[in-house]
Amino acid sequence: MSIGKILLYYCFTPLKDPEAVMLWQRTLCESLGLNGRILISSHGINGTVGGDMEACKRYVRATREYPGFKKMEFKWSEGSAADFPRLSVKVREEIVAFGSPKEIKVDAEGIVGGGVHLKPEQVNELVAERGDEVVFFDGRNAMEAEIGKFKNAVVPDVRTTHDFIAEIESGKYDWMKDKPVVSYCTGGIRCEILSALMKNRGFSEVYQIDGGIVRYGEKYGNEGLWEGSLYVFDKRMHHEFGQGVQDPGFIQLGHCVHCGVGTNSFHNCINEDTCRRQVLICADCASHVKTQHCGRVDCAEVAAAAAAETVPESRGLA
Ligand SMILES: [Zn+2]
Ligand SMILES: [Zn+2]
Repeated sequence: MSIGKILLYYCFTPLKDPEAVMLWQRTLCESLGLNGRILISSHGINGTVGGDMEACKRYVRATREYPGFKKMEFKWSEGSAADFPRLSVKVREEIVAFGSPKEIKVDAEGIVGGGVHLKPEQVNELVAERGDEVVFFDGRNAMEAEIGKFKNAVVPDVRTTHDFIAEIESGKYDWMKDKPVVSYCTGGIRCEILSALMKNRGFSEVYQIDGGIVRYGEKYGNEGLWEGSLYVFDKRMHHEFGQGVQDPGFIQLGHCVHCGVGTNSFHNCINEDTCRRQVLICADCASHVKTQHCGRVDCAEVAAAAAAETVPESRGLA
């Protein structure tokens, strides 16, 4: 058995012919047996692929041969091709769907007019110098912050990245326009764009974290300004830093929607026809069909009906 790896990467650089890059990337991944998801636009590339260690190394070498991707950083983590259902390589208008393809400008250095990049230690330095004046602004979907966020962070009311522009134009956050704002997201890509959108709308001192929460958490574990778990987009669903939940410094932010017990486990609501919500459900409540719902009344009815049909022996499999 060879060792598997997962690569995470993005790069903002002008691509004149995204279609050609897409075809090249697809052929490259197929030839190396990599699975995963790659988005390409005229602004750059954003990908997560998994496969054998040797194949991943070859992929990195081949991808960096393209002049625009020469300096692209790849983040390595544990996993394999089996962590993804298939290979998907697509051209989109945006590599992160903010709904602002016309507003964002990209040159060889990356996004034009984005927030100042801070290394993890510079984040702590900024807070040490400016104290409570510093505002952490969550650049993810609100749900992700239920299990982890920066201390005292402002979590905007967004269900998808598409909601951000309306949210920052709503006036709700105008009080932070003159404050130092540190936007943050999982790996940094969303804040590349979000920080530029914020600056364009009058937020005067905007920062972003190099490598996002992932790099900050690797550096400080549960001893820094981060609290709780990190929501991740693969099968694991969540990741803990340091020694995990056993770490004395770990703070459990998430709680089961049904019984209130501390948990980091998101589950899909059983009412898949009309509800697409993912909610926190503890292991015990998740083992009973009647509590495999998000808490909404109609969803609870669907769960109750499903529970009535389920023979007790099959419970654990549901
Ligand atoms: Zn529960
Ligand atoms: Zn539901």
